[in-house]
Amino acid sequence: MVNFDTYCIDRRNPTPSEYYLYLEEVDSCCPKCGAPFSITKAGRYVKGCEIAHVFPNSPTPAEKVMLRDVRTAGVNSEDPLNKIALCHNCHKFYDDNKSVELYNEMFDLKAAKHRALEAKKLIADKNIESEISKIINRLGIISDSEIGELEKLEYNALKVSEKIEDKYMLMRRRIENEVLLYFTFIRQEFSNLPYGSFSFDTMAFNIRHAYCMLRDKGLDKKEIYKQMTNWFERKTGCDVEACQIMVSFFVQDCEIYEELSK
Ligand SMILES: [Zn+2]
Repeated sequence: MVNFDTYCIDRRNPTPSEYYLYLEEVDSCCPKCGAPFSITKAGRYVKGCEIAHVFPNSPTPAEKVMLRDVRTAGVNSEDPLNKIALCHNCHKFYDDNKSVELYNEMFDLKAAKHRALEAKKLIADKNIESEISKIINRLGIISDSEIGELEKLEYNALKVSEKIEDKYMLMRRRIENEVLLYFTFIRQEFSNLPYGSFSFDTMAFNIRHAYCMLRDKGLDKKEIYKQMTNWFERKTGCDVEACQIMVSFFVQDCEIYEELSK
């Protein structure tokens, strides 16, 4: 049960640092409708974003009854965990149409955005071996005729379905296709690297470590896949689709995800 006397405190404007946090959490556009936060009016840039309370800081008597048993985040209403950046329209709609359903949606949205940002920061400092970049780059330029000549993985060697459950079916099918097409090629590329220049085991350990950090942070499989892809992209500067194929390689190679319990 929410303790309104301790949780709801006077409104406090965000500090500049908190403002960056709110913008970064939602990639600088409204997480409800996608509206950009940097807008122009009469040729001038104006702020298109407002910082909203997920749980109201001064609830009306009706809101106190409606929201008395919901989940809250942070120590009080001014905690950054209880605030989210929204466009003006979505902020107004949320404040004017409060319901338990809308509240729970906003609560989950904020939690997911915050978790994703924390995950991104968690692995941001971890480096990726330059050899991975070289191979990801190769994936980006390989021609159709070269692909046709590649040795493909046998379908019965696929391990992806043993690690990804049905609720991620679309992602699983895509990973399986990428693994069937590229797994053998990528493995060959790694084994063709000059002897002594690179340790596959060390690299695999580092990838596994990054995966475990994300898993232990509570991210689901889809979020983990997305964070790993974005991490590869940021660190290597390579094409995002090629980075995705490399993440799929590590799913098949067992660094990412565990086998499902039967
Ligand atoms: Zn909006």
